[in-house]
Amino acid sequence: MMNKEEYKLYIDNVIRRVEFARVRFNEKHIVKIVAISKYSTANEIKALYEIGQRAFGENKVQDLRAKSSELEDLPLEWHFVGNLQKNKINNLLDINPALFHALDSIELAHELQKKLEAREMTLEALLQINSAKEESKHGVMPEDAVAIFNKIKKECPNIYLKGVMSIGAHSDDKVVIKKSFETTYGIYKQLESATICSMGMSGDFELAIECGSNMLRLGSIMFDK
Ligand SMILES: *Cc1c(COP(=O)(O)O)cnc(C)c1O
Repeated sequence: MMNKEEYKLYIDNVIRRVEFARVRFNEKHIVKIVAISKYSTANEIKALYEIGQRAFGENKVQDLRAKSSELEDLPLEWHFVGNLQKNKINNLLDINPALFHALDSIELAHELQKKLEAREMTLEALLQINSAKEESKHGVMPEDAVAIFNKIKKECPNIYLKGVMSIGAHSDDKVVIKKSFETTYGIYKQLESATICSMGMSGDFELAIECGSNMLRLGSIMFDK
C-alpha cells in the first residue's frame, strides 16, 4: 500500500502521461478523466478524492447506488458506464448520475424517455458504438450510429445526447485498436451537437487521446490495481 504522498506522486505521473498525449494531439485539446471505481472500495475512492479527483464511474447500478450513497457527503460527480438492463432503469434514475455512457439501442432510449418523462427529469447520455463489431460488446454498429444518434435526439427530448462512447478493440495489435478509436472519432466528428468522445481505458488511453478522445475512463491505473 502506498501512503498519501506516494499515491499523489503516482497519480501525478498518470496525469503527466495524459498531458503528453493531449499536447501531442492538440495543445488546446481538453481531456477529462473519469476514475472507474468498480474494483475499489469507498475508502479507496475517498483517498483519490483527497488528492483531487472528482468524477467517478461504476458499471453496475447496485454498486453505483451503494458507493454514491456511502460517499454522499463528498461533492463527487458520478458516471454510469455499464450496460443498463431495462429493469434497472428506475434504480439508475433514482441516483440521477451526471452522465450515462452506454446508451446502446433505440429501444433502451425509448424506455428511458418514458421513465424520464414520467419523472419530469432529464439525463445526459452517450451513444455507445461497437466500433470493432465484436460479438462480446454492446453498442450500435458504426454504420448505423449517426442515424440512431439523430433519431434518439429527435424522439427522446428528455435524453440529452452529448456524444459517443466506445471500448477499444480487444486486441494486442495497436493498429487494430487504433482503427477502432478512429472509427468512433470519425462518427463523433459527423455529429454536429456532440461534445464528448469517451474512449480510452488503463491499457490504451494514450492511443485513445491520440485519436481524439476527450474523456477517459480509467479504472485499474487510477487505483494502482
Ligand atoms: C472497467 C471499465 C473501464 C476501466 O477499465 P480499466 O481497464 O481498469 O481502466 C472503462 N470503461 C468501462 C465501460 C468499464 O467497464
